[in-house]
Amino acid sequence: MIHRVVKKLEERREGSFLTPAYGARSVREPVPKYELPRQELPPEIAYNLVRDELILDGNSRLNLATFVTTWMDDEARRLMAETFDKNMIDKDEYPQTAEIEMRCVNILSRLWHAPDDGQAAGCSTLGSSEAAMLGGMALKWQWRKRRQAQGKPADRPNLVMGVNVQVCWEKFCRYWEIEPRLIPMEGERFCLIAEEALTRIDENTIGVVVIMGSTFDGRYENVQEVNDALEKLNKKTGWDVPIHVDGASGGFVAPFLQPKLEWDFRLSRIKSINASGHKFGLVFPGVGWIVWRDREELPEELIFHCNYLGGDLPNFALNFSRPGNQVVAQYYNFLRLGHDGYRRIHQASQDVALHLSSRLAAMGPFTLISDGSDIPVFAFTTNRRANFSVFDMSDKLRQRGWLVPAYTFPKNRQDLSVLRCVCKEGFTRDMADILLADVQAAVKYFGSLPGHQPRLQGAGFHH
Ligand SMILES: *Cc1c(COP(=O)(O)O)cnc(C)c1O
Repeated sequence: MIHRVVKKLEERREGSFLTPAYGARSVREPVPKYELPRQELPPEIAYNLVRDELILDGNSRLNLATFVTTWMDDEARRLMAETFDKNMIDKDEYPQTAEIEMRCVNILSRLWHAPDDGQAAGCSTLGSSEAAMLGGMALKWQWRKRRQAQGKPADRPNLVMGVNVQVCWEKFCRYWEIEPRLIPMEGERFCLIAEEALTRIDENTIGVVVIMGSTFDGRYENVQEVNDALEKLNKKTGWDVPIHVDGASGGFVAPFLQPKLEWDFRLSRIKSINASGHKFGLVFPGVGWIVWRDREELPEELIFHCNYLGGDLPNFALNFSRPGNQVVAQYYNFLRLGHDGYRRIHQASQDVALHLSSRLAAMGPFTLISDGSDIPVFAFTTNRRANFSVFDMSDKLRQRGWLVPAYTFPKNRQDLSVLRCVCKEGFTRDMADILLADVQAAVKYFGSLPGHQPRLQGAGFHH
């Protein structure tokens, strides 16, 4: 968020101070909000003032809007607190943290079926957005090399993807000057399909992004179909169009809930995969991952070697300093949960999602867009039997503390607005039943207002 600086303080004097809530005890002077206080505060007073401000944030356990982890073991919390001081970039000073990152990359590349020739490579990032930037850059540089080797111009790159991509891909295109070729939604199709992708690919296409777990409805795109179509296309044209899989959510779900589904390095065109450790990797924010099938996919020009920290450490990242404790926590989860643990936790979340979606569908005024059988995320909308909109419902649920976002779909389905639930560890069957009762009560409330006009726009609250 870009924050504007508030107006000159004299003009808004009464709003410029933190209430001296603990003032009677030891704070003599009002504490200014918008400028650096002149004097120190005792730590317990500062702690209370900041903590009290944060009470007004939503309760993260009732937050069905976010994909991001809101619960971890006490042992994980302790381990993270004990490793707050680790800087991920200081690989020479904290070689064991670096070793742990390397083990995580190994674990993920095997989970995603990278060829067993020891050529896969990867790293941790701040999240999937940074991972997407790195994956996209590698695609752009590789494409440019191919073009230059053929003596052809390399100044008009494009990237093909569904309009349902997460905003990080639009950012990637804008920041790196790539034409985004977005496939719009059509009727009941809310994602990219091979047939539509093919009509937009040409010799300047640096790659196709396929999403495992669309932000809009939690559905997987058909990676296998896109892979097969690209194999044929490349054979016919002599191009070499690759796929990057955005597995921000699904990268940590499909290996456990849909192990037979082929969406990863088992498919030949998949060059790189990203995932968010802080989503279904079950770590507090922020950690993400990217793995390339082969080190060769990573252009040497993008890798920086710096020696300020001692040693010669190859580095491909947008940030320099970055907390190391999330990587430590990711490794903790891998050890603590193993295959079985991840499968059980995600299965439990999926059971809750399927329970919730089927009960909502049976209620009458709702129609499901998806049911949570890919990742445990589903979207639903209101139908003719409702005298309220998804925005009314979202507001009404917020009175009970639930954060269930309502939003409109993009091109060409701007007519469709939905509510979405992300079911995560910590959201129990019992909580789902309480939510169902609250939805039922809200439906009844709107039913008691026969003249009620559905509000067709949201107040703006997003994922
Ligand atoms: C969340 C998400 C992202 C962005 O990931 P962050 O880890 O929040 O940076 C990208 N793509 C998809 C499909 C996502 O769900």
